Amino acid sequence: MAEKTIFKKIIDREIPAKIVYEDDLCLAFEDVNPQAPTHVLVIPKREIASVDDVTEEDEEVVGHLFAVIKKIAAELGLAGGYRVVTNCGRDAGQEVMHLHFHLLAGRKLAWPPG
Ligand code: 5GP
Repeated sequence: MAEKTIFKKIIDREIPAKIVYEDDLCLAFEDVNPQAPTHVLVIPKREIASVDDVTEEDEEVVGHLFAVIKKIAAELGLAGGYRVVTNCGRDAGQEVMHLHFHLLAGRKLAWPPG
């Protein structure tokens, strides 16, 4: 059996995280190395490695993640706007092979990203 990713360990409560939201399908927690005043990671509990690994069966859960992102943004009062990012694969800099959306806010975010 492949070793658990760091995010699976967070889901299983084997390592701590500052959890901001949880339901049956997903978990959201603060990034340990924040790139903006607000930096939350929103992940499915189901083990999907990346966008590249999303299947038809995952469509409901992936759609749900966006509904949750909107809810978290409202709860955190991100009225000035926010950015949702997912890195897929080596060239995009994906480090953790468990699908995750970065929710970034609290400062002016440059575009295009590096
Ligand atoms: P990626 O580069 O894969 O898109 O993003 C992975 C993110 O996970 C990075 O922003 C990194 O700071 C965050 N991260 C890595 N390990 C941990 C951890 O143990 N706890 C938390 N909360 N975030 C982590």
